[in-house]
Amino acid sequence: MLKDLILLLFPKSCNACYELLIPNENEICTNCRNELPVISIKSLTNLKLNVLFKEGIVITNFSSLFYFEKHSEVQELLHNLKYRNHLHIGELIGNWHAAVLLKTEDFQTIDLVIPIPIHKKRLRQRGYNQVALYAQTIAQKLNADYRDDILTKTTHKKSQVSLNRKERFNNILNSLTLNKPDDLKEKHILILDDIITTGATMRACVSCLKNKAGKISIASIALVPNESL
Ligand SMILES: [Zn+2]
Repeated sequence: MLKDLILLLFPKSCNACYELLIPNENEICTNCRNELPVISIKSLTNLKLNVLFKEGIVITNFSSLFYFEKHSEVQELLHNLKYRNHLHIGELIGNWHAAVLLKTEDFQTIDLVIPIPIHKKRLRQRGYNQVALYAQTIAQKLNADYRDDILTKTTHKKSQVSLNRKERFNNILNSLTLNKPDDLKEKHILILDDIITTGATMRACVSCLKNKAGKISIASIALVPNESL
């Protein structure tokens, strides 16, 4: 509530720490630009990639920009992007993450960028897919096509809370529809989400595309590092 008020009264506040922005700052203050917990490429390879995909789901590469912790600046940033209509954060973070991705050879060969789909009903409520602008910006920088029509969400999934790992995965998988699979043939796909928590959503999306695409890589704005998978 207080944060809503701050952003309403002072729209030029930092989306992560709520300090007032100075004229040449955009969406995030310089201090946060320097202090947000960016994940190094080196530590990514040791992170939960193997655990995430231990069930035989093979991906080419994986990148998350930030570590996520509760009550952190990264949480505020995502919250402002997702619920407070601060769409332009997606563009800023997309540019930031694209610069990181382009340092790795695998990400230089991406043909198609696909955002994690959200259900039409939720899209209507929120008015936008919070991943769209982030994903469009990355697609542009990677010289790839942005396709939000390939993977769609057709049924509204049940609450995930009471489900175990397998049930959670199947629940999400059953809610996904793959359209125009021929467009994926021999292409390197990059699937993007705002946050990877348990990895169930990402795993389901990768499973949906895996036999149709040439290669699949995944990326997200943030990653929950200690979530047990
Ligand atoms: Zn800040």
